[in-house]
Amino acid sequence: MKIVETPLEMQEWALKKRGQGEKIALVPTMGALHEGHLSLLKEGKRLADHLVLSIFVNPLQFAPDEDFKEYPRNLDADLKKAESCHVDIVFYPKAKDLYPKDFQISVAVDILSQFLCGQRRPEHFKGVVTVVLKLFNIVQPHVALFGQKDYQQLRIVQQMVQDLNLPIQIKPMPIVREDDGLAISSRNRYLSPAERQAALSISLSLAKAQRLVDEGTENVEAILKAVSATLYETKKVKIDYITLCDPKSLESLSHLKLPALLAIACFIGTTRLIDNCILR
Ligand code: AMP
Repeated sequence: MKIVETPLEMQEWALKKRGQGEKIALVPTMGALHEGHLSLLKEGKRLADHLVLSIFVNPLQFAPDEDFKEYPRNLDADLKKAESCHVDIVFYPKAKDLYPKDFQISVAVDILSQFLCGQRRPEHFKGVVTVVLKLFNIVQPHVALFGQKDYQQLRIVQQMVQDLNLPIQIKPMPIVREDDGLAISSRNRYLSPAERQAALSISLSLAKAQRLVDEGTENVEAILKAVSATLYETKKVKIDYITLCDPKSLESLSHLKLPALLAIACFIGTTRLIDNCILR
């Protein structure tokens, strides 16, 4: 496994492999690797000749009051995990190389970025799309893997690929959960034991919604009410949003039309967690 730090060296390697007709898979991450990331890496390895993992805590996607500074960074542990997944190249750029002083472009997927997390984090997806497009240009992947845990991010990247005619396959990957249902996230480590217990209400509330649909409930309000009641049972949860929306356009549904995306963001203490499921 090789660690590459400069965009130029990474791109030269990628163009050479492409020229030789070899296939490249990219898994973009912010590091602090966990089982969710590893599932993407294992699938990426299966899909291509070369697997590239990028690790970059992207300052552009954090607002000034967010956890950019505190975001967990542990390169040594990440490298061990990457090695165990047979990563070929870890692309580990420096912010000053991706965003030199005279950097001035920004890319946005306007409409999809307005919903869900975009309401609270208005600049977030611009930062995500800008860095993902740069990573695509540098790593030149044939396929890039994204988790459905960040469903809106996945949809926005798919839209960018479509709108800009990028020759890249986007492979969505299922949410990896702890045994008790909590969606694995790098931010789970911020939770105290009591908060960790309270966080279970998120996946429980998603399951409750699916049960209601299974029983024939079609009333969107009733489903949203049951979800928020389940979340509030623990008294430690502050709901940011609960949305039932179209899985492609992300527009809220007033009448249930399946499949539908049920997406939740909430604060447990100061930690903001997101989760979702597709109701069928
Ligand atoms: P991050 O490092 O949080 O930016 O995540 C990098 C990639 O891993 C994104 O495509 C995420 O959606 C994906 N990911 C994070 N957590 C999970 C999870 N629990 N299951 C599946 N994919 C995940």
